[in-house]
Amino acid sequence: MKFGTYVFEPKKAEGFDFHLFRVKPEVGRRLPPVADMYSNIAIFGDNVTARNHPDWISQSPLGPAWRTNDNFNVRWDILCATQPEHRAEQLDYIEDVARHSPGIWTNSHHFADHGHCTCPRCNALWKKSGLSWLEWRRKEITDYIAQIRERVKNELVISLQPDPVNSYERYGIDFDDMAKYADAFNVVMFSKNYATPWYWEMLCRAFKKLLKKPVYISLYVFGPGDNPAEVPAPSELVTLSVRAGRTGIDGILYLADKASQLWDFQKAVVDRVELRQKLKTYGCQEVLDFFASWEKIVE
Ligand SMILES: [Zn+2]
Repeated sequence: MKFGTYVFEPKKAEGFDFHLFRVKPEVGRRLPPVADMYSNIAIFGDNVTARNHPDWISQSPLGPAWRTNDNFNVRWDILCATQPEHRAEQLDYIEDVARHSPGIWTNSHHFADHGHCTCPRCNALWKKSGLSWLEWRRKEITDYIAQIRERVKNELVISLQPDPVNSYERYGIDFDDMAKYADAFNVVMFSKNYATPWYWEMLCRAFKKLLKKPVYISLYVFGPGDNPAEVPAPSELVTLSVRAGRTGIDGILYLADKASQLWDFQKAVVDRVELRQKLKTYGCQEVLDFFASWEKIVE
């Protein structure tokens, strides 16, 4: 297994195998890539572009994909996935970022959710395709990922929403199509608590069974603007990491706003001596050894 950081600032916390920097998160702001950190880019989830081009927002029978639309689990504004100018601009941007970092991890490279997008352009493209609605959506997303693959000469990792069953109907994502272009997958499993690890462990097993490329998962440690009283307890993250690790997944990333918050997390993990001892019988020594390696970092 490999262990990574997943951070909003260009800083590398010590004690991890690799680092993923949120060069362009869904809020839409862009920061320069870093030569020794992978670059994470959200493509259609883009508040800045949505504000500048409100007519590019994704449409559906349950309303547009503004982050205020409670019919969907949209935490940011999501653009129509066939908007040609945005697609072209993002391809050029991705190519440039890839040249200045070891590779690209995409986010939000798909339709907003079920029923999207019903804008006039999407309707016209669908009718012209002769395909069923769902197959047309799949083709749009797969073709765009193929174009991204052509632009990214180094590593390309495709993130997935944590839905192993309905990603095709909701997002136009076909896992086997994606596996043709992805070097690996990153299943985003963000939550403000991990009190019941059983569910997350089940999702790891499901994705490991379905995906034909290495599977990383991303866990939530501390997000931008979070109240420290409302982030996942370190003990829950320790337990889940071990239980996820024993499913055969290939790696875990830990998300934080700042590298210093990961150091706080590392310190808390090192302090959980009894818990780590208890987890020795859970069947994933590799994760426990990784946590033990932090003992010399937080001294
Ligand atoms: Zn559309």
